[in-house]
Formats: sequence, structure tokens, C-alpha cells
Amino acid sequence: MATIADNLQAIRKRIGAATLLAVSKGQSVERIREAIAAGQEAFGENYVQEALEKMALLPSGLQWHLIGPLQSNKTRAVAERFHWVQTVASEKIARRLSEQRPEGLPPLNVLVQINASGEGTKSGISSREAPSLCNEIVKLKNLRLRGLMAIPEPGAPRSRFREVRMLFDALKPKFGFDTLSMGMSDDLERAISEGATMVRVGTAIFGPRTKKSNAGMTELQP
Ligand SMILES: *Cc1c(COP(=O)(O)O)cnc(C)c1O
Repeated sequence: MATIADNLQAIRKRIGAATLLAVSKGQSVERIREAIAAGQEAFGENYVQEALEKMALLPSGLQWHLIGPLQSNKTRAVAERFHWVQTVASEKIARRLSEQRPEGLPPLNVLVQINASGEGTKSGISSREAPSLCNEIVKLKNLRLRGLMAIPEPGAPRSRFREVRMLFDALKPKFGFDTLSMGMSDDLERAISEGATMVRVGTAIFGPRTKKSNAGMTELQP
């Protein structure tokens, strides 16, 4: 059976120069340690509480990305502990993250989440709304706007990825974007060939997730 180290190596080959974010939601601290031992340093989590529990058990110096929806009552913990938030979709959340980012830490890296699914999810804003939100975010002194993130629905056609890439290209000169985060285990080649610079990969690295993503909590119990 392929180990986590084997999976990481195979995926790094498939994605070329793109950045690999290892999505560790629903994976145990033990499995994350295996990925770290294989050289992986950037991890994505969807749930704030689960992420905080894992951070407490793992070495410092890792880079943590929030890739799940963020509610305003969780922004403080995120501003204090994460390095990236990929799911910014409102000025209110952006403002809170900037205000709550502790002095002495570098600016929090953020991506604006674009709703790229035909119907499906409600997360993210439309392409049309993106320029004005980006304009607001760049005024916030403790945030650093790095680009866009999207979650095309499973089986989404190439055109869905391409539309996000075209928006990215259009806004890039003005905002200095360097990161387009799209692509997961099942669509990473498609995303890369349509211009993704970062892919978020969970199951293809770690195997199936444990139920409802409680891996961190289980390990904390005596
Ligand atoms: C869970 C998740 C991923 C990883 O999905 P896999 O299919 O396991 O690779 C990537 N991005 C987001 C936003 C996710 O919620």
C-alpha cells in the first residue's frame, strides 16, 4: 500500500511548479506527522476548532490555511493562529480579520473566494462582486491580498476553471496577485492546466477521512 510519503511524491510530480496544500481535515495528528516527515509544511483545515487542537500538538513553523467557511465569531482565533485564509467573501469578515490580527505578526495572507459552481454551494462571491471586495481588502493594513480561491463542483467542466482564471488574470495587475487556489484530489490536472498556482489535496495524500472530521478531538481524549 502506498504511504503518505509515496502519495506526496507522486502528487508533487503531477502538479509541477504549483504549490501543494495538504488538506488535513478529518485526518489524525499521526498522519499529519507522516506528511511533515516527508517534507510537507503547508496544511489546510476547514474547521477552526479542529485546527487549533492539531496546532497545539504539532511543531510550530508549519503554515496553516483556513479553507472552510468562516463565521464572524471565529475570526479572532483565525487572525491569531492561521497564516492564510482562503475563504474571504465579505468586507465584514476581512475587516475583523485585519483588526484582530495581533501586532507583531506579519499580515494575514488572504484569498477572495469566488463562487465557481454552476448552482450547488452558496460559498463565495460572484465574479462581478470581486473587484470591489478586493479594493476594500487592500486598504486593510493587517491583511495581504494574494489572489483568488474557487471550488468548482465535482466534475465541473474546464470552462468553470477557465472563468476563474480569466478573472484572476484581469485583477492580477491591479492587486499584485500571485496565488490562484483551485483543484483538489479529483480535478487537480484540470485545475493546473487551466492556470491554478495552488492545489488543495486531501484524500489523494492521506486516504479517506475519518467521519465528520473529528480526528483531532479523538486524540485529545485520555
Ligand atoms: C476537503 C477540501 C479539499 C480536499 O478535498 P480532497 O478531495 O480530499 O482532495 C480541498 N478544498 C476544500 C475547500 C475542501 O473543503
